[in-house]
Amino acid sequence: MKIKYLGTSAAERVPAVFCKCRVCENARKVKGKELRTQTQILLDDGDLMIDFPGDTYHHLMKYDLDITDIDSLLLTHWHSDHLYAEDLAYRMDGYANGITNKLDIYGNEFVHGFYNRAFELEGRTDKSKIEYHEINPYQKFQIKDYTIYSLPAQHGNFQEDCFIYVIEKDGKQMFYTHDTGYPTEEMWNFLKKNNFKFDFVSMDCNEQGKKNYSAHMNIEKNQEMIRQMKKLGMCDEKTVFVADHFSHNGGSTHEEMKQLFSDKNVIIAYDGLEIEF
Ligand SMILES: [Zn+2]
Ligand SMILES: [Zn+2]
Ligand SMILES: [Zn+2]
Repeated sequence: MKIKYLGTSAAERVPAVFCKCRVCENARKVKGKELRTQTQILLDDGDLMIDFPGDTYHHLMKYDLDITDIDSLLLTHWHSDHLYAEDLAYRMDGYANGITNKLDIYGNEFVHGFYNRAFELEGRTDKSKIEYHEINPYQKFQIKDYTIYSLPAQHGNFQEDCFIYVIEKDGKQMFYTHDTGYPTEEMWNFLKKNNFKFDFVSMDCNEQGKKNYSAHMNIEKNQEMIRQMKKLGMCDEKTVFVADHFSHNGGSTHEEMKQLFSDKNVIIAYDGLEIEF
């Protein structure tokens, strides 16, 4: 599998839309890897897209993408840095021309409400061009060649309104944890029961070196997660670990984060990062 990080920030972005903190001022000056846009990834050159934030349009320009060809979108949750459904409505007839395929969207029931709101504003839907499929927590389902497992995240309202996913293809397994706090016992049990052995793990590291609150993780929690996975045999020395989803309020620049991780094998994500595993 191949993963491309189109965006790697929390909702406000880096620099944040309104902010004069040190990290934001540094990003404005240094640019490059210090600039971060909202969280979105592509798997296998667009075979599957994960999340559709307001910054999607910016990503199309930046990476020279034509997403009319993408037919599968998996949604994690309803926060605006992961879903801006109003732009999805422009896939309907009357806005979009020359579209012959359908975009199938997968997400939970709560996220479906946010999706529906955009189409209610339009007063119509167009299921030949775009369709939402509801999935439940701890469900195993298929999107083309991808076998996917949903887990309720420690995030949002903490009421199964946000999901994280295990994604399997061609004998490779990845764990995508945006956004969530440290996994619960129930989540670890589900992972254990399925005997996952991950080739790739993308970890929520919103708070970096700062104190952790329950809806996200920091570096300490990421390292605890790696230790737990080792203990449970869910990873080995070949497993690739990436820290991602950074808030300017985490207080560290990209350069500083590299120093903060005692586990030097953890890759610090940046916009445009591509990894094949
Ligand atoms: Zn987020
Ligand atoms: Zn800031
Ligand atoms: Zn979120």
